[in-house]
Amino acid sequence: EPVLKLVGIEKSYREGDGVLPILRQADFSLFPGEVCGLVAPSGAGKSTLLHIAGLLERPDTGEVIIGGRSCGSLDDGARTAIRRTEVGFVYQFHHLLPEFTAIENVVVPQMIAGLDRKEATRRGMELLSYMKLEQRASHLPAELSGGERQRVAIARSVANAPRVLFADEPTGNLDPKTSHYVFDALQALVRATGLSAVIATHNHELAARMDRRITLEEGRIVELE
Ligand code: ADP
Ligand code: ADP
Repeated sequence: EPVLKLVGIEKSYREGDGVLPILRQADFSLFPGEVCGLVAPSGAGKSTLLHIAGLLERPDTGEVIIGGRSCGSLDDGARTAIRRTEVGFVYQFHHLLPEFTAIENVVVPQMIAGLDRKEATRRGMELLSYMKLEQRASHLPAELSGGERQRVAIARSVANAPRVLFADEPTGNLDPKTSHYVFDALQALVRATGLSAVIATHNHELAARMDRRITLEEGRIVELE
């Protein structure tokens, strides 16, 4: 059974007096453990697709099904609850809390979700070690390199054990070598936790290393290769 299923997603934005269709009958299934690359030109609708799949935005029509649960008819509160527990997000910019250390950044969302500090710290250190950051746990974001900050952001995004990770150009600010290193760590994390991921990227070499690749063509999701 897919962890994420999109069925007949349509989304348009208003543009002046008209409408700008972005997604048209977009269908997609992501299976447990899969890492899927989303490769499409700027403006094709990648962010829109990730935001709809991650319940940050509603489609005009169509169904988003996460973990077998249809999310369309749910109210905003129920969608937020599912988003907090089932979905993780990583962006091009890390959005770490600057006054908190790496481990604290990973612990805070777990404590907000109700875990005690000790258990949250144990899990946080485990996640940081998948990201090869054990030695950086007590550093502030400003004391970390760009690649390290992004690895902390990835660890934080999965702190509450989501089913699906959505990453929007997670290595977009990094040089090629660092990008590969961050992706290796991300993949190790996915393998270790049984997570699934959709990763929007312009980096074709990175995309080539993922399990699957999709693109957007005239608002539809098309499998590559
Ligand atoms: P990508 O991530 O592939 O660059 P986006 O999903 O960000 O594409 O945007 C797709 C198109 O939708 C772009 O033309 C963008 O300007 C437009 N768009 C995105 N969000 C909005 C919005 N909230 N209101 C109006 N237009 C939007
Ligand atoms: P990058 O080129 O990847 O951005 P940096 O030159 O920023 O890397 O950092 C190189 C190394 O030095 C990293 O491992 C980083 O953790 C460490 N580092 C950078 N700034 C500080 C700092 N202010 N305090 C402690 N360690 C630092």
